[in-house]
Amino acid sequence: MASLADMSAFDLAGVIARGEASAEDAVRASLGRIAAGDGAVRAFIETFPDRALDAARAVDARRARGEAAGPLAGVPVAVKDNLCLEWGRTTCASRMLEHYRSPYTATAVRRLIDAGAVVVGKTNLDEFAMGSSTERSAFFATRNPRDPGRVPGGSSGGSAAAVAAGMTPAALGSDTGGSVRQPASMCGVVGFKPTYGRVSRYGLVAFASSLDQVGPLTRDVRDAAVVTAAMAGRDPCDATSADAPAAGWAERLDEPPAGLRLGVPREVRSPQNHPAVNFAFERAVMKFRDAGAEIVEIDLPHLRHGIAAYYIVALAEASSNLGRYDGIRYGRRAELRPGEGLAELYARSRAEGFGPEVRRRILLGTHVLSSGYYDAYYLTALKVRRLIKGDFDRALGPRSADGRAGGCHAVLMPTTPGPAWKFGEKSADPLAMYLEDVYTVTANLAGIPAISVPMGEAEEEGSRLPLGLQILGPAFEDLRVLRIARMWEHLRG
Ligand code: GLN
Repeated sequence: MASLADMSAFDLAGVIARGEASAEDAVRASLGRIAAGDGAVRAFIETFPDRALDAARAVDARRARGEAAGPLAGVPVAVKDNLCLEWGRTTCASRMLEHYRSPYTATAVRRLIDAGAVVVGKTNLDEFAMGSSTERSAFFATRNPRDPGRVPGGSSGGSAAAVAAGMTPAALGSDTGGSVRQPASMCGVVGFKPTYGRVSRYGLVAFASSLDQVGPLTRDVRDAAVVTAAMAGRDPCDATSADAPAAGWAERLDEPPAGLRLGVPREVRSPQNHPAVNFAFERAVMKFRDAGAEIVEIDLPHLRHGIAAYYIVALAEASSNLGRYDGIRYGRRAELRPGEGLAELYARSRAEGFGPEVRRRILLGTHVLSSGYYDAYYLTALKVRRLIKGDFDRALGPRSADGRAGGCHAVLMPTTPGPAWKFGEKSADPLAMYLEDVYTVTANLAGIPAISVPMGEAEEEGSRLPLGLQILGPAFEDLRVLRIARMWEHLRG
């Protein structure tokens, strides 16, 4: 039997269900990996070893009594620290929430726990999930397990690194513009952003509410299906959550659509991509073609406006969502100085609590919403968002009368234009960092499901750096996206 820490969540749950190992063994194996490796990787902000072992023993006791233990019974999971948990702290990697204790647990996490999963700790992120490298955590940077001199991607970099380093088989992240898929791509694991509304956002600390979605990071596609299915479904606490059943996904994964038709956007075959990205992407397309898929060239003419639209919509929403951290009702409060009033207290609490990237975003977001600029920026960005959604609707919607356009089961793209970069390489230039999100933000703007699966490697200065293939499908066709991703796993071998 493989080491428990190297097993997939699905296999581990099976081994535990059959009594071949205990949940306690599984959690001990995970905690052992964290103890041995996290000093170097720094994926975790906080771990709960005692609590996790108690929870594992409770799972074992339920099993011993013959009670149903759930599809993830005994599986250790890590949770991004912007998902509320009623124990420990929920910091969002921000000084603002450094000591915040949530009175409740996020629905997505609650459902994993109800399925038997054991939360071993909270993972690092860019402050309030704003960033692409996890260097913007107010506490420390997480290292890429594949090359400690490089970033793990972000903002769910802690979750991606934990899974890549074998510390947990699965971790939760949040994806507003790529924060699950991009770090998955850079760490060589699978990252899935479900359809907007598939998973409840209740208890996910809001960044940009019309874009945020919770998603899993795992080592394989089946685990992404199992974890998403366990979290999915209507939640009365989130009005945007959909009543879309997701049961039985893991058992129905090995059935790719008949007559598979895949769209490859002309716009992503770009000389601006790293050559290894273009090479691995063309090879992936060829493998799908060799396996019998019909490959069609499509146009996503508004893709190039994705970054601009995303960084206006996301920042506008962020400036409003982060207004609650005033130091009075929420968040770190500055010391009141003699002669100061409430306005100064607000200002200083926010200045001390938020890091520079968060401050920049609140300022930009407030600006694009201000009178006189609202129409020019925010409203225009919303129109572009609609056009981007239209691009995908055309590719993924019904086939045109001449049979040439549309009718694609999914669209293929690279997840990122290049591999993980070195620490500090893009920190001085926020725009350079934003541009790295060019292929991921569109799925959030369109609200559609998208997965990143390992597609190859780039060799850089002796390191072999993972690259991701992205598969995007129509809204609520999450299972189809997972099936095509599963097919790719088989093709890649
Ligand atoms: N990198 C993007 C940003 O900085 C996406 C972040 C996310 O998905 N949370 O906004």
